Formats: sequence, structure tokens, C-alpha cells
Amino acid sequence: MTGPLPPPLPPDADLRRMVHFSAGDGRIWLAGQRMLLVHTAALGALRREFMGTIGREHTRRMLMRAGYASGERDAALARQVRGDASVLDMFAVGPQLHMLEGAVQVTPELCEIDVAAGRFHGVFRWDHSWEVETHVRDFGPQEEPVCWMLLGYASGYTSAFMGRPTLFKEVACAACGHPSCRIEGRVLADWPDAEAMAADYAADSMIVRLEDLQAQVDTLRSTLQPADELGELIGRSKAFDAAARLLRKAAATQVTVLLTGETGVGKERFARALHAMSPRAGKPFIAVNCAALPAELIESELFGAEKGAFTGAGAARPGRFERADGGTLMLDELGELPLPAQAKLLRVLQQGEIERLGGTQTRKVDVRVVAATNVDLQAAVASGRFRSDLMYRLNVYPIRIPPLRERVDDIEPLAAHLLNRFGALHGKTVPGFTDRALDAMRGYPWPGNVRELENLIERGVILASPGEPVDVHELFPTLPEHAPVTVNAAGELERSAPSSGPALYDDLLARGLSLDALEDALIQEAVHRAGGNLAAAARALGLTRPQLSYRLQRVHDRAKE
Ligand SMILES: [Zn+2]
Repeated sequence: MTGPLPPPLPPDADLRRMVHFSAGDGRIWLAGQRMLLVHTAALGALRREFMGTIGREHTRRMLMRAGYASGERDAALARQVRGDASVLDMFAVGPQLHMLEGAVQVTPELCEIDVAAGRFHGVFRWDHSWEVETHVRDFGPQEEPVCWMLLGYASGYTSAFMGRPTLFKEVACAACGHPSCRIEGRVLADWPDAEAMAADYAADSMIVRLEDLQAQVDTLRSTLQPADELGELIGRSKAFDAAARLLRKAAATQVTVLLTGETGVGKERFARALHAMSPRAGKPFIAVNCAALPAELIESELFGAEKGAFTGAGAARPGRFERADGGTLMLDELGELPLPAQAKLLRVLQQGEIERLGGTQTRKVDVRVVAATNVDLQAAVASGRFRSDLMYRLNVYPIRIPPLRERVDDIEPLAAHLLNRFGALHGKTVPGFTDRALDAMRGYPWPGNVRELENLIERGVILASPGEPVDVHELFPTLPEHAPVTVNAAGELERSAPSSGPALYDDLLARGLSLDALEDALIQEAVHRAGGNLAAAARALGLTRPQLSYRLQRVHDRAKE
């Protein structure tokens, strides 16, 4: 070490006198500043959290800035306490308070100070740094120094004392295997890497980091979601396997596929998977829900419209068929397609060309059609609501997607997959499900199928306590009221089967209810129970919001008849 040895530190009785334990009112004072006795373990826990969330670099800078703030405060005391002493004794207030506060033992090795001329050069040895103890305990021996708050304190204290930025570097640290820590301080301009050092104290870096993280999360979300829709069909049950096998075989061909199954079984997911596995994967996948479009708009939506074709058609517009050219067009809820549109659809399927509304020109389109329906098309044909020729044209390659209750073996892998997805979406780590929750899911009949499972798991993720698995009550909060699976006081599952099959049929006959009347009653009751909230009523019935609106309209129409 070069330079003159500094005098030993003066006695610190004057500083000790400034500490007051005001136990009666729960406060500790250092001169006029409120202090806090905190367990180093608590600060250690905080440090671990920071390291785990924002990373080492940002933790270092944040703790340096916290230390800096506390050093600045103590500098105000130096002149107050030792205004008449030599500049070295006055400066010693900082190192001595730092010791008194329990942070570290400080031994000056070199100290040259000229406040008026703005000159400072100091070297101090540190022993028993609390940060070394805490950091090494949690993270083991280090390559880089870790006395971040202490270093910030030295820099904040000296900068305030000097009235100009004066920063320290930790040139040796006990955490890296040195016998002691050692710091060296200079006026900022005297450091060759002044700019980089000053940047550590710039408060905006944290915000930049948060923005970085936000961007990463957004990217993850956007990659998670499409991946999930893109053919990530999940299942291992026999019923699922059978459907998936049929789907795979159809993918390579141009055949028109008819997906049947209850509402919520994931028909669009299957259609997307079919598209993704097909040679058309690089081209558009377009889905149209026939039940969600008003009858008067459906033809222009599907086939496009020339300018002025109807009121409101201000400009020529391509339809979904044109937009799906080269790719796949999914016609969901095809059973709801009005008869005139059915005739046009049949022509497109037969001739591979469309004609826009109000147009005369025909256009070739190369589209693989996937139709989906949850109604029995045969029955619709029998009742005159669906063209038989169109049904035969579509029914070349039917694939029945089984309801979730026939795929009990798939519930657990599906639930685990959805848990990850919604965990990422809501920024929450949920370790899994309790056994009770899994049991209840296996026993539940899932009238709303996979869509209902999705809704329940998203809610479960939101309700679950951080770090805790999702429990049964977070999935089925209203369980005892409506659902057939309940958990009794002993934590055991109870099943109270609803009337089904023959019993249900007898029930309905006894009440003289027609199928239409039953549907009307169900819909009205659901809307009533949901307090008029159609989205909630739709969920309860396992319908989409547009499907419910459509059916509700039918209820009103029937009431008028
Ligand atoms: Zn150190």
C-alpha cells in the first residue's frame, strides 16, 4: 500500500450517544433518523428473491443504490457531530457509524481528503462483512465481489461528504476467498471507467429491466398460444386415439372432413391439427362459426360481395373462401347454415369455384373444407332443415370427437397442460393439483367438455394460493349446488348421480315436456341464474356466447308462434 498511513479512528463515544432505543413507542433513533434493527436473515431472504427474479446484475445495482441512500443520510451527521474536529476525524464518522450499525468492521489503510480542492483517495479494509456471510451462505464462494450495499454506503457517504460524486470499488472480497474485503475510493472523474461506474447508480436501469422482462413474457405468451392451437392435441385414451388416427390419415389427402361431437369437445382444435399436419400447413386456416353470423350476412361472409351488392356493401370484399385459398376453411356449426347458403356451398364443393354476391364472375378457389357440427345432420335432413345432397357431400369422411366423459384417461394430461398454459398466461407458478381435485375432475361428467375444463382450470389457476396446488374447491366452487360430485366434511367424494337415460326420459314424459320446451326451459333458467349475464349462462350450458344468443332468439321466436 502506498501513501501515508492514516491516523487510527477516533473514539466513537459521541456516535454511540446518538443511538436511542425508544422501546416504549417502538422506535430506534440515530440522532434524528429513525433506524431499524433487522435480521440479516430477512435481508438475505430479500436478496435471494431479487437474485431469483431480476438476476444478479440488477440485484447488485439495486442494493448499491439502497446502500448509497443510507450512506448519504449518515454524511449529514458528520459535520453535526464533529464540526470542530480534523477533516479525517470528521470523515471517520462514516466508517464508524457503519461499524456501529453492524454492517462491517472498517480499518482505514489510506485516506487523503481535500474537500475544498475536490480531491479524495481512500483505501479501507473490511472484515466481517454481513453481506459476505449472507451471500456465501446462500450462493457459495464467488468469482466477483458481493458487498454491494456496503459499497453503495461508502460511495453515498463519501459523495455527500465531498459534495461531489466520489465512488468506491471493491478491489478484493472475502466472498472470493481473499482474507478480507478491500475498497478503494476516488472522485468520479479520477476513475478511468467513470461512466460505467456512475451507471450503476442510475435509477432507470430497473425499469429497463422490467420492460425487458415484460417483452420476454409477451414473446413467451405469443409463442405458447399458437403452439397450443397448432395441432397440440393431447390425449392417451382409446377414444381419443381412434379419432386422432382418423385425422392423421385424412391429413395427407384433400378429402372433406366432417367433425362431429358435442359442444366444447375441441372441434376447432382438431380442425387446426388436421390443417397443420396437411400439405396446406403453410397456407391460411380460416374458421367460420355459422351459428354466430346473422343469416343475412353469412353468404357475403363466405363468398364475398361486390361493391353495392347490398346495403352497406361499400367496397368489394373477398369472402372467407377466397381468404382461405390454398389452405383450410373450417365451417363450424354447419347445421345452422341457412338453406340458401347451403345451396351455394354445395356448388362450391362440387365445382371448386365461387361467385361473390352481386357479381357475375366466377373465381377458382382451392380450399379444403372441414365441416363441424354438434347436431345430428341426419335428423336435420329429416326435418327439412338441411339439404340431403349437401349432407352426403360432406359426410364422406366423418370423424366423431368423443366427449370428455368418454376420455377420462385424458383428463389428467389435459389438465396438466392447461395448468401450464394458464400459469404462463397469468404469470403464476402452480405446482399441480391435489389428489382430491384430480379425483373430482375424473368423476365430473363435463357437459361442457374440454372448453369447460379450460374455464375451470383457468379459474383454478387464478384462485390457487401462490406455490400451492389447485384444490377441488378452486375448481368447483359451486359444487354442492349443481354438480353431481361433492366433497363431504370428511374430505371424501360423494356422487349424487342426476337422473339420466331412462329415468330422465320418464321424468320428461311425466311432465309432458317436448325437446324444444326442455331446451327453452333450460336456456331461460341458465340466463335467470346467471342474473342475465349471457356469457356466464353460455358457460354454464357449455355453449359459446354466440350459440346462446342464437338459441335465445329461437326461444323468443317460438314464444311468438
Ligand atoms: Zn466483500
